[in-house]
Amino acid sequence: MTTSNNTTVLISGATGFIAQHIISQLLAKGYKVVGSVRSTQKGEGLVKIFENSNFSYEVVPILEKEGAFDEVLKKHPSATVFLHTASPVTFEVEDNEKDIIIPALEGTKFVLKSIKEHAPQITRVVYTSSIVATGTPAQISSPEFKGGEDTWDSISYEEAKENGVNAYFGSKTFAEKAAWDFVEQEKPNFTLSTINPVYVFGPQNAAPKTRELNSSAQIVASVLNATDSVPSIGGAFIDVRDVAKAHILAFETEKAQGKRFVLTNSVFNGQTILDIIVANFPQLKDKLPTGTPGVSISGPTAFNDKNAKSILSIDYISLEKSVVDSIKQIIDI
Ligand code: NAP
Repeated sequence: MTTSNNTTVLISGATGFIAQHIISQLLAKGYKVVGSVRSTQKGEGLVKIFENSNFSYEVVPILEKEGAFDEVLKKHPSATVFLHTASPVTFEVEDNEKDIIIPALEGTKFVLKSIKEHAPQITRVVYTSSIVATGTPAQISSPEFKGGEDTWDSISYEEAKENGVNAYFGSKTFAEKAAWDFVEQEKPNFTLSTINPVYVFGPQNAAPKTRELNSSAQIVASVLNATDSVPSIGGAFIDVRDVAKAHILAFETEKAQGKRFVLTNSVFNGQTILDIIVANFPQLKDKLPTGTPGVSISGPTAFNDKNAKSILSIDYISLEKSVVDSIKQIIDI
């Protein structure tokens, strides 16, 4: 079991929605944290948010460049844990391969190579993968799909280049597979664990005015902004604070080494989120559509998340709390 005493954790993509919660929880547990960001301005923004001498940042402007992390790794010989969260989280880009697939895939391969070559003291790597690496879009939205921790999206590289959604599914699948292949073939000093969450909701770690809402948080906001009809959205959700906790347990817990963890709580659709908003913020009722309150939903409830349930055993935050905390934060701003 790794403990916080004198442990330094490196985390890529420190500005991210999920990464900021991971950093907050790490700092609260007494870890020292070094976050990689794409610019000094972004790093200084985080220094103001965390206000903690145990947090510092390093600028790594381009993920998909061989040796991009070499200097950072050499500069922090006390780091023994690396959390790789940085990856494009978008479906709308000019070039699907260049803007989504390559940074995710090459970025992951290069960072693992750098860790092996320059930071042999790093014994734990956690990669933030996704449910999208476990099945096709049709599979992972089906109530019948029983895959997850033991399955893979079958998408090919050529299919992944076809559109933004395919590119995102492909990027997470190829990068996660490459990470497992690296460990098997290169036998580095570190063990790997991956976190594969479904849609991640919940409040931002810091007030959203400091950063655009990330793609999944925009789903909840889209219901708040609906006027005529209930947005046609749906799937399975997990709260960001549970996703952050899982990353930390994944490197702290001996049994978590070498495992994939699917994180999923309950299903949602536009109406479920709307019903939660109306019940908890009655002052907003008149400006929102009515839809069909209480309508039953079907969605992916049968994922294989046995590792997460038995090894991480997190008592998940409910959809209601997650939505209420997010809406409160949006209203405050
Ligand atoms: P996010 O807020 O958009 O964070 C993404 C992070 O990656 C940011 O720090 C961003 O830096 C960085 N990044 C993006 N493209 C990059 C590039 N080309 N080079 C270097 N850094 C880059 O999204 P998030 O939701 O926290 O996602 C974090 C991780 O969780 C991702 O790996 C994502 O695939 C995974 N995930 C997310 C969800 C979800 O529903 N949110 C679900 C499953 C898995 P900038 O701030 O500089 O842009």
